[in-house]
Amino acid sequence: MFQKILIANRGEIALRILRACREMGIQVVAVHSSADGDAMHVRLADESVCIGPAPSRESYLNMQAILSAADVCGVDAIHPGVGFLSENAAFAEMVEEHGMKFIGPSPEHIRLMGDKITAKETALELGIPVVPGSDGALDPQGDIDALAERIGYPVLIKAASGGGGKGMKVAHSSADLDEALRLARAEAKACFGDDQVYMEKYLGRPRHIEVQVIADSLGNVVHLGERDCSLQRRHQKVWEEAPSPAVSSEARAKLGGIVAKAMKKLGYRGVGTVEFLYEDGEFYFIEMNTRLQVEHPITEMITGIDLVREQIRVAAGLPLSFRQDQVRFKGHAIECRINAEDAVTFIPSPGKIQDYHTPGGYGVRVDSHMYQGYQIPSHYDSLIAKLVVHGETRDECIQRAKRALHEYVITGINTLLPLHRGLADAEEVLSGEYDIHWLEKWLVWKTQQEAA
Ligand code: ADP
Repeated sequence: MFQKILIANRGEIALRILRACREMGIQVVAVHSSADGDAMHVRLADESVCIGPAPSRESYLNMQAILSAADVCGVDAIHPGVGFLSENAAFAEMVEEHGMKFIGPSPEHIRLMGDKITAKETALELGIPVVPGSDGALDPQGDIDALAERIGYPVLIKAASGGGGKGMKVAHSSADLDEALRLARAEAKACFGDDQVYMEKYLGRPRHIEVQVIADSLGNVVHLGERDCSLQRRHQKVWEEAPSPAVSSEARAKLGGIVAKAMKKLGYRGVGTVEFLYEDGEFYFIEMNTRLQVEHPITEMITGIDLVREQIRVAAGLPLSFRQDQVRFKGHAIECRINAEDAVTFIPSPGKIQDYHTPGGYGVRVDSHMYQGYQIPSHYDSLIAKLVVHGETRDECIQRAKRALHEYVITGINTLLPLHRGLADAEEVLSGEYDIHWLEKWLVWKTQQEAA
């Protein structure tokens, strides 16, 4: 097992990884920007190194600075967390070239799945169903109009290197197609430095269902069921549940089996999430994330498996500590993403936390790096806490979420707590009858109600 791990990340996820390391008796090196010297994971780490100024590209994305810190501190492995360098194949390669382990899959698999076009092609080859769409990237000289007609409107133009919901535009008819193409290409170029786009059928009322997998380097692959991340705003997840209220245990076993088999065929190692849209009883692959996901705790709550611990173990070459037939799904879990944002306008709200009181009690878990007096920097993602609750049944879980949301006090900044309290009371959330477009429609409806 590793003696010392460097965590190349910040915020709640850095703290989450630090906690797993501590429990495994592994020393932790924190790296941080000059804006994060007071961060909780920096305070709790065995060693810490400032790797650059506040902007991410000069610190958390600065590969040379991170590798130098790792060399100086003599670490065995680097955990990239989520975001930042977690899906950067070149970084994974550099880490291995420096004689350390990258806690993640092989660079080839990161590269394969990082390009959404090759990812879709690979999925098809592996027997995973995909969303109907273009055969690879759209040729600007080709007859895109005819293709869209063939797929059938509405269609979605998506960036090949997309992420975070960026570079995605819908065309409802041929009249919108040119504009959607132009906007998607421009956004893709600006965000990812790559203007390649592809086309997919735009699904009208799908759910977002994703399957968690974990594989060791000995060829054992296990799926840990699905998460339902359909409550989204601007293609970004807001509230997640496991299991999905819409997936039967037969469908779960079938889809999980397909995914696990595909990952075994691929020779995948580490944790990974295969994302699908689910409509009218059919699953369609959209992408694979070759890393830990923000919403991994809900899977941990229903399986009793510490995913970060397992991820570290398999990276160290150890076998998975459980088999598929030992995985049991117990109860229901919900995660509410608490962002430092206004709950109505969604404008980011960095600043100083004045009062801070977290909920507790049976079945409640808060993954957060917040504390009273903490100054939230304005340079990074606005996620400040994840409230995770578990219950025997979905109803009990929602009641517990409601109770915990009411206990949670954060003052000095705006947060999404009021939004989540509203969601926990909404009829469609209670019945579980929502799709990926529901939350945005509900927000519009609520604004109109309040104005009337
Ligand atoms: P990203 O990597 O940017 O997150 P994804 O391909 O994972 O992109 O898609 C993000 C979200 O966008 C999905 O969860 C879904 O809400 C929406 N989406 C993606 N593809 C489609 C599609 N073909 N039809 C309808 N919505 C889609």
